Amino acid sequence: SDGPVYERVALIGLGLIASSMFWAMKRGGVAGHVSGYARSEATRDTARRIGLCHTVCDSIAEAVADADLVVLAVPVGAMGAVAAEIAPHLKPGATVTDVGSVKRTVITEVGPHLPETVHFIAGHPLAGTEHSGPESGFSTLFDNRFTLLVPVEGTDPEAVARLRTFWERLGARVEEMDAEHHDLVLAVTSHTPHLIAYTMVGVADDLRRVTDSEVIKYSAAGFRDFTRIAASDPTMWRDVFLNNKEATLEILGRFTEELFALQRAIRTGDGDMLFDYFTRTRAIRRGIL
Ligand code: NAD
Repeated sequence: SDGPVYERVALIGLGLIASSMFWAMKRGGVAGHVSGYARSEATRDTARRIGLCHTVCDSIAEAVADADLVVLAVPVGAMGAVAAEIAPHLKPGATVTDVGSVKRTVITEVGPHLPETVHFIAGHPLAGTEHSGPESGFSTLFDNRFTLLVPVEGTDPEAVARLRTFWERLGARVEEMDAEHHDLVLAVTSHTPHLIAYTMVGVADDLRRVTDSEVIKYSAAGFRDFTRIAASDPTMWRDVFLNNKEATLEILGRFTEELFALQRAIRTGDGDMLFDYFTRTRAIRRGIL
């Protein structure tokens, strides 16, 4: 609709999220110029081949030097090191944001490296797929999905408003949340479900040795959905659990209690308990849709 929200944007890490951001920026004319950097030469070559970013830089310093907005789109465990690398090269007045799936550790690890002349506003688009890498992105990924922004005390409200407009122009609905609450909510809605999917696929894989390939061959809807989730990037998900330890352990504890209650109901033939439980969960699903 209008002109660019930021004249120059830098994307650090060129995977699913960054590449989707580029195509969405291009679709909406949201940035004047986008430079990109990825650590591996193979990723940079792929990016150049498919026209991802206006300029793909071989040095991270060059990528961020003139940027008005710098987006850290690397695995959560790499955020601190990347922030330290870019810090000396940032333009005064620039905004730095991230897209990591965990917010508390990212804020404590990134913030201290950055000069006081830049605005740091953590963020998290609640959108993704099980695919990764520079070729997995698409322009509609953020459409009608939430992006959560996590400004800390003292963050310049104008810088927050601009970042909000940026995400809205990428198609997202934007809300603000504090880091601790974000990490607990995401432990319930995303992190623990992923862990359960990994477990279920692992169990089936063990079982396959007993039943040949039948588990895979006859895989029905339930199991198929788990395998899709369990195909997600191992580095990204390792970092999520290492960085959202407290909240995921809390939710896993509750999950285990519920699982034991259901296990007991099955053993004792408590049909009422199972029926009531499934009735309650069905109502939750109908409330979402
Ligand atoms: P991805 O695996 O597709 O891409 C990650 C990129 O970071 C790659 O270009 C990789 O080369 C680069 N990278 C990896 N380690 C690095 C390092 N140490 N230094 C510099 N670059 C490095 O991942 P993605 O799905 O785009 O995820 C990026 C971030 O977005 C992660 O923090 C993730 O938690 C978050 N996120 C992911 C999803 C999702 O569903 N995939 C959704 C929301 C947020």
